[in-house]
Amino acid sequence: MTNRSAGLRLPDTRLFIDGEFVESAAGTTIEVVDPHDSSHLAYVSEAREPDVNRAVKAAREAFPAWSATPASERGRLLLSLADAIDSNAEELAELETRDTGHPLRDSERLDVPRTAGCFRYFGGMADKYEGSVIPVDAGLLNYVVRQPLGVVGAIVPWNFPLMFTSWKLGPLLASGNTAVMKPSEITPLTTLRLAELIAEVDFPPGVVNIVPGFGEPAGRAIAEHPGIDKVTFTGSTAVGRSIVAASAGNLKRLQLELGGKGANVIFEDADLEAALNGSAFAIFHNQGQACIAGSRLLLHERIADEFIDRFVALTRSIRIGDPLDRSTELGPLTSAVHRDRVLSYVAIAKEEGASILTGGGTPLDPRLKNGYYVEPTVLFAPRSGRITREEVFGPFVTVQRFKDDDEALQVANEVEYGLGAGCWTRDLSRAHRFASALRAGMVWVNTYKRVHPGSPFGGVGSSGYGREMGFEAMHGYTDAHSVWINVDAPQPRLYGGN
Ligand code: NAD
Repeated sequence: MTNRSAGLRLPDTRLFIDGEFVESAAGTTIEVVDPHDSSHLAYVSEAREPDVNRAVKAAREAFPAWSATPASERGRLLLSLADAIDSNAEELAELETRDTGHPLRDSERLDVPRTAGCFRYFGGMADKYEGSVIPVDAGLLNYVVRQPLGVVGAIVPWNFPLMFTSWKLGPLLASGNTAVMKPSEITPLTTLRLAELIAEVDFPPGVVNIVPGFGEPAGRAIAEHPGIDKVTFTGSTAVGRSIVAASAGNLKRLQLELGGKGANVIFEDADLEAALNGSAFAIFHNQGQACIAGSRLLLHERIADEFIDRFVALTRSIRIGDPLDRSTELGPLTSAVHRDRVLSYVAIAKEEGASILTGGGTPLDPRLKNGYYVEPTVLFAPRSGRITREEVFGPFVTVQRFKDDDEALQVANEVEYGLGAGCWTRDLSRAHRFASALRAGMVWVNTYKRVHPGSPFGGVGSSGYGREMGFEAMHGYTDAHSVWINVDAPQPRLYGGN
């Protein structure tokens, strides 16, 4: 049963700048709706350029003291934030579900604990992240200190708002930077709730600033801002390209997590039961709205028929419904615009000669008629079509057959994206060969879509560059500052005539 009627506790819906909630300069707002039934959830203050300027100023002013704060203290604050998230887990999970449409059981089991876990990991990392001493010539000491960059602009999409906020803020704060963070205009609520918790656990004012707003003008203002030293962006490849152009003015550092079109290869020797469940999670978790979704299923011809029959049966059994209901396995897509975009691929696929094995429409259940629901969809599609090469970002998976390892690899690697990919096999040599040859930032063998705050996350090709998580993220938010000390090396006399 759902508790939709019980009402929702909303966070402060104003901008969070310099430690306070403030109105936007222009006084404009963004409406946030519930994707289950299009009902109104909130009006949130909309940041525009003057608000971004104000946030950058606060972050710049906070930077000297924050970067000089002992790393253990920065870590302590991040650990306190992780505890505060745990203490408010139930409320955060419900808010994330109302804002995004994630099934509540996913928000409870994945989004919220992973968010706390990420802050906790980087809280622990803060005072363990070390510089190095380089073995240079005799008599000289050369050490490298990792120095924070300054102010980081963080721009995130709507698919995992809470989690992505922690992926950005955790490492950038642990390494001594300050932040101007823009959640998606579609899903700002949990990030604002996080701002309340950030204030509650006593982060110094200006260290974290949260400015919900549209890509134009707020996102662009961040990308262009001369007072921002780095932009970390998660979103579409098209917007990623525009950020590269906008960032040229002050040569900002960039880290780009963009789209994906993950290959999921099932070999004839795989544990088919495990592969079936793993492949369903790979595509249908979060309604397919995941950059690392396994959206291309590649099947060895020997098991293809059996696998397809069982996969289609499993897909048909997925429970679609109100995401607040704990038995729901697939909720609505997050926005009406996105639902329409996803459904537009049905006509594209048909034109290209694809056949729809199941799904391809909206559910018939009248209780879902005002929501942004799309059926989980399995399609047989030709290799060359848009449906097999473009990111749909919905619960659509294409199926293709292959005859041997070479062909599987060729098909897996022939898209422009290179974010996540995986294979299922009991053959150890084949597993390692494939793990190394798949063109992707992350490869999973006999599992799919695993993430951990310690393990590098990012892509190649049109999926972007730079890495989140772990030491890689800490390197990305710091510069190597190399110091040379002459301990007792003779200074060669090169001038003066002797
Ligand atoms: P999007 O690129 O439209 O928007 C992402 C963010 O960028 C939003 O906050 C938006 O307001 C902002 N934005 C839009 N235009 C901007 C501009 N001109 N300048 C600066 N910021 C701007 O993407 P989306 O529709 O919100 O999210 C879906 C996309 O995100 C998918 O393509 C998906 O693959 C990608 N994604 C990638 C990853 C990853 O880690 N690689 C993770 C999740 C989502």
